[in-house]
Amino acid sequence: VFRDAVPQFTQRNSLLRALPGRVQDRLQPDLVPVQLSCGQVLYEPGQRIDWIYFPTSSLISVCRPMKDGACAEIGVVGNDGVVGLSLLLGSDQSDDRAVVQMPGTALRLAGHMLVEEFWRSSALQRVVLSYTQALLMHISQRAACNRLHSVEQRLCRWLLLCLERAQGQDLFVTQEFIATMLGDRRETINVAERRLQSVELIRHSRGRISVLNRSGLESLACECYGALKDGAERSLTAQSN
Ligand SMILES: [Zn+2]
Repeated sequence: VFRDAVPQFTQRNSLLRALPGRVQDRLQPDLVPVQLSCGQVLYEPGQRIDWIYFPTSSLISVCRPMKDGACAEIGVVGNDGVVGLSLLLGSDQSDDRAVVQMPGTALRLAGHMLVEEFWRSSALQRVVLSYTQALLMHISQRAACNRLHSVEQRLCRWLLLCLERAQGQDLFVTQEFIATMLGDRRETINVAERRLQSVELIRHSRGRISVLNRSGLESLACECYGALKDGAERSLTAQSN
């Protein structure tokens, strides 16, 4: 359906956009625009990575599940990145669960196509290495954040980073979902959320969070919000140089 839109979609993912025209031209015939729905699972741990996804308007959560079924988000991939990166790092199996956090579009590519192009193009290698560095920084920052910062600070950080990628001031997420993403109990998130509502920073009703006071959220969020945001921006600059 979207076949004609591929060149336009390519420009919406900053990683693809950062590639030289000749590499984009080689990949484009094999890139397929797909619509991803909320909660859709792209990979489970141990599953073979057949497809690589370049989000264009969707947001993908990468989560690490535990044996008892509990799961915590370790990173998010939006239109600045790629899902299925471990294929390029030498593993054809996913270690994590990748699940769609915000519905939208992505470009899908057969994994082997990207691997072939990776060994052929030093420009693609540079872009992927620079993105990998940004991703490692993102995961390290979050690991420290989870250990050192309060649930309220982390909730503000999480909401703000989602907002950066969403269009508008509203997020469509349930408390259950936020609890999973932050790796906290739902009751804990409920208490933190009620505090934010009581000072009129957000309003939450039926799976919809409206941000009423963004600068208020920024002043409550931990420093990790700024660090993660700057890290993503630096990665984009590095990719396009
Ligand atoms: Zn933090």
